[in-house]
Amino acid sequence: MTKGRLVVLIAIAALIAAFFAFDLTRYFGLDYFRQQQAAIEAYFQAHPLRTAAIYFAVYVAVTGLSLPGATIMTLAGGAIFGLLWGTVVVSFASAIGATLAFLASRYLFRDAIQTKFGDKLGAINRGVAKEGAFYLFALRLVPAFPFFVINLLMGLTPMKTRTYYWVSQLGMLAGTIVYVNAGTQIARIESLAGLVSPGLIGSFVLLGVFPLVAKRVVEWLKARQVYAKWQRPAKFDRNLVVIGAGSAGLVSAYIGAAVKAKVTLVEKHRMGGDCLNFGCVPSKALIRSAKFLSQLGRSREFGVRSAAADFRFKDVMDRVQRVIKTVEPHDSAERYASLGVDVVQGEAKITSPWSIEIRRADGTKQTLTTRAIVIAAGAAPFVPPIPGIEDVGYVTSDTVWELGDLPQRLIVLGGGPVGSELAQAFARLGSKVTQVEMLPRILVREDPEISALVAHRFRQEGIDVRVETKAKAFKVVNGEKVMVAEHAGRDVEIPFDVLLCAVGRAARTTGYGLEELGIPLTKQRTVEVNEHLQTIYPNIYACGDVAGPYQFTHTAAHMAWYCAVNALFGRFRKYKVDYSVIPWATFTEPEVARVGLNETEAKERGIPYEVSTYGLDDLDRAIADGVAEGVVKVLTVPGKDRILGVTIAGEHAGDLIIEYITAMKHGIGLNEILATIHIYPTLVEANKYAAGAWKRAHAPQGALRWLERYHRWMRGGDGSAPAPTREPAPGRAEKHA
Ligand SMILES: Cc1cc2nc3c(=O)[nH]c(=O)nc-3n(C[C@H](O)[C@H](O)[C@H](O)COP(=O)(O)OP(=O)(O)OC[C@H]3O[C@@H](n4cnc5c(N)ncnc54)[C@H](O)[C@@H]3O)c2cc1C
Repeated sequence: MTKGRLVVLIAIAALIAAFFAFDLTRYFGLDYFRQQQAAIEAYFQAHPLRTAAIYFAVYVAVTGLSLPGATIMTLAGGAIFGLLWGTVVVSFASAIGATLAFLASRYLFRDAIQTKFGDKLGAINRGVAKEGAFYLFALRLVPAFPFFVINLLMGLTPMKTRTYYWVSQLGMLAGTIVYVNAGTQIARIESLAGLVSPGLIGSFVLLGVFPLVAKRVVEWLKARQVYAKWQRPAKFDRNLVVIGAGSAGLVSAYIGAAVKAKVTLVEKHRMGGDCLNFGCVPSKALIRSAKFLSQLGRSREFGVRSAAADFRFKDVMDRVQRVIKTVEPHDSAERYASLGVDVVQGEAKITSPWSIEIRRADGTKQTLTTRAIVIAAGAAPFVPPIPGIEDVGYVTSDTVWELGDLPQRLIVLGGGPVGSELAQAFARLGSKVTQVEMLPRILVREDPEISALVAHRFRQEGIDVRVETKAKAFKVVNGEKVMVAEHAGRDVEIPFDVLLCAVGRAARTTGYGLEELGIPLTKQRTVEVNEHLQTIYPNIYACGDVAGPYQFTHTAAHMAWYCAVNALFGRFRKYKVDYSVIPWATFTEPEVARVGLNETEAKERGIPYEVSTYGLDDLDRAIADGVAEGVVKVLTVPGKDRILGVTIAGEHAGDLIIEYITAMKHGIGLNEILATIHIYPTLVEANKYAAGAWKRAHAPQGALRWLERYHRWMRGGDGSAPAPTREPAPGRAEKHA
């Protein structure tokens, strides 16, 4: 806790303690007020404004400090000022007092609570951001809820102060009127407890839930409205039709069939989608051949004097296709048919919220009615409209697999994961690669030193990495293709043979009915979905690359589960898609894997963190394997072992990080990782050493000094000041508040 906060906390605690120590509660009882009522009223007649000001200040202080006494103050307000002015004064005083208590709680405790339980509070925070005003209004209307508790709890949430104030004032108004009105008859009141009848409280409850119910009704009406112009079939041919048989579509269809729904999966191109045919699988197969060649080049390091490679690019590309063919059966129409999915080869178009028209390759058409639709149409490489690009020609991640010859001079446009993986693979196969990125570094989502590590390796391997370089135009000069790019305010020209365009992938959103149905897109041009992955038509869902926000096979499959389950069982229970622990890897060498926050994001979001690192250059197995390069970098909550995020750069980073993904998903901290036996000698020991770096940084130094004295004394020494200790092992932990 900061000094400022401590002072405020002590001041508030002192005031509350004084209130009870001097027994000021006696001035806030019904009997005391009745005894003093005549005198107070006389004073009010003589000094109306002063009375109102004193009353107002005392009311604000009582509610602001969460002291008992608000009820009697409100009754007194009615007795002194009458119904109208009593209501006005009490309404403002109570709202201001409540807001002060809310602000005090926020100032003193919110940061600490959000830092400590931030991940668990995520859903509450989102709920408050979305519907907090409604909930607060409901709570305020019901005088049975202790208001001071509401003030203190709401202060811990992200609700805006302005919202808190006006919703509180509005919400408390009905209760205020009832109590002030009762106060005008204070002489007749027997006790505070009997002031409001159960019937009255019931009415307040109904009034409180009304806005929530009304909101749900509006949502339901809105949903009905989008369906209004469509004719709903009386019966359906299918429970689910899935558009696209990529990672997302396959999983949706599989889950549907597994729970015995009648599911049709429509694919217009190749079963398995991008991942199998143009993405993950071919790229990893190519990377493997390239890695083999790169290792041959390092033969001397491994004690082998020479190792030559005689290869043809075509054979390597043939192997890529063989790998695809080997994996293909996993995603084949036959396999899915055997799992109970009706697989149709053809192009799907949504013709109404409940019908799909399928145009088969042979030109025949079929229309299916369906209760629900899952859009899993994926994404396609984006080609920026740079002047001349169409004239010089280019390949993308879709078409690069058709290259017959190894490009001599290859420009890879784009420094993201796809561009970086392919740039290194082609360089290792023998292309002279220039990688062009307009941002200051490649792999820009990762921390700067991670990008630098990869860029350094790329340059060592002969890749010409050009950052802050923006492609402006393409031209052909004397039969040679040239890229014109801007760097540091000057134009540079880079001649090349093949251009590989890898600047990102755009969701496929046209040509299959989204426009006709008016299904909106996000700013990122992906299909807009809610937390249940529903489009504006609650029975039409979208997942995978077409919906984003992530573009990975595993996130597509993750989302697909929610789509299938919500589409088939949403009437009983709908699940909100969970993006809390999303990992990914870039398969360059060094490989880069991440889960959760990195330092850059933690700083951007103002999240305090500690960082513990362990260098793979120290790891026995990495040294033995000749891969002693890279780092494990763990971000934790300051003073705690709770993991906020991990980045690993190095050999098999994508495998090593699984331990941390599991830890984050299941709330396991660094202490538990450290207490787990890791097999020696393995690369995964690096995870434990990173946890060890954290532990050493949090060792209780004072206690250790005493232990050292104790042991010295046990040896017969004098137990005086300990000798300086030495750093036991590498690794580093730093605090960033
Ligand atoms: C080079 C490269 C490497 C990658 N490497 C990795 C990696 O290592 N790890 C990783 O996790 N991700 C990787 N990805 C990303 C991954 O491939 C995608 O995130 C994943 O394929 C998305 O799956 P999806 O089902 O959303 O879409 P897709 O796989 O694109 O599938 C969509 C399918 O829908 C079909 N379709 C579209 N419209 C219609 C229609 N109207 N009717 C019928 N069918 C239709 C398409 O033909 C396509 O087959 C890589 C991508 C690329 C390009």
